[in-house]
Amino acid sequence: MELTIKDVSKTYGGQKAALSNVNQRFTPGIYGLLGPNGAGKSTLMNIMTDNIKADSGQVLYNDTDIHNMKDHYRALLGYMPQQQTLYDNFTGEEFLWYMAALKGMDKKSSKGKIAELLDMVNLWSEKDKKIGSFSGGMKQRILIAQAMLNDPEILMMDEPTAGLDPSERIRIRNLLSTLSENKIIVIATHIVSDIEFIAKEIVLLRDGEVVRAGQPKQLLTEIRDKVYEIEVGLSEEYHCNRSRITNIRMGANEKIYRVVQDEPPKNCRYQHAKAGLEELYLYYFL
Ligand code: ADP
Ligand code: MG
Repeated sequence: MELTIKDVSKTYGGQKAALSNVNQRFTPGIYGLLGPNGAGKSTLMNIMTDNIKADSGQVLYNDTDIHNMKDHYRALLGYMPQQQTLYDNFTGEEFLWYMAALKGMDKKSSKGKIAELLDMVNLWSEKDKKIGSFSGGMKQRILIAQAMLNDPEILMMDEPTAGLDPSERIRIRNLLSTLSENKIIVIATHIVSDIEFIAKEIVLLRDGEVVRAGQPKQLLTEIRDKVYEIEVGLSEEYHCNRSRITNIRMGANEKIYRVVQDEPPKNCRYQHAKAGLEELYLYYFL
C-alpha cells in the first residue's frame, strides 16, 4: 500500500501559495509532518483526505487518483482534523455511536468496534461521562477512537496533541505508535517531541514546500557537525548573527550557549554537541 503526492500546489484566493509543488511518498509507518504555523500542514492533510482539491497535482492511492475513488477512498481513511467540534452533551460512547452512524456503519459491527476502541484509548470506564466534562487528553483520545471506527489503512492526525500536558502527550504518542502496524499514519505537528521517537520518516514543511524529508537518523546525520556548545563568561553575551541559539544554560561561573550553524563559531571556546530533532527544527525553521 502506498500514497503518493505528486506535484501538488494550492493557493487560497489570490494570496501566496499555501503549497507549492509538493512531492512525497508514504508507505506503512508513522510520518511526522513537521513545520511551524502557516507552513501548509493542514492544507496538505485536507488535500490528502480529499476534503479540498489541489489547484494542480494529484494524490495517488497505489496508482489511482484518490479523487476518482470517492467513497472507496473514504472507507480506507481515518481523519482527525485540527479543529473539530465535539458535542458536550453526548457521552463518550454516544459520540462514537453517532460518528459510526455518520460513517454508515451498521449497528452490529458498531457495537463491537466501539467497545474495542473505548478500551484501546483507555476510556472504557469513562464512557458514560459527558464529553463536556472530559479533560483535553480525553477529548483527543475520543477523537482518535472516532478516526479508527472504520479500521482505516490511512490515518491522518492534525495536531493530535494540541493543548495537552506532557503526560497526556506521551499517552497519545504511545497510542499512535501501537496503531501503526500496517497503516500509514501521518501526524502534523509543530511539536518535535510528538514524533521524535516514533516517526519512521519526517517531512519538514516550510512556506508550503517540503524543505527536507527522511528518516530521523538520516536528517540528524546531516546536521551532525553543526551543533556547538559555546562557553561564555556570566557577564558576557554571545553574538553571532548567523547562529541559531537553541538553548542557554547557566553554570556556576559561565553561560553555555547551544547553537546550530553551518560554520564553527569564531573567537570563542566551543565544543561539538550531539544534534537532536530540536536542533534540526531550529536549523530549518528559525
Ligand atoms: P498549518 O496547518 O501548517 O498551520 P495551513 O495549511 O493551515 O498551515 O495554512 C497554510 C497557509 O494557507 C497559511 O498562510 C494560511 O493562512 C493559509 N490558509 C489556510 N487555510 C486557508 C483558508 N481557508 N483561506 C485562506 N487562506 C488559508
Ligand atoms: Mg494546521
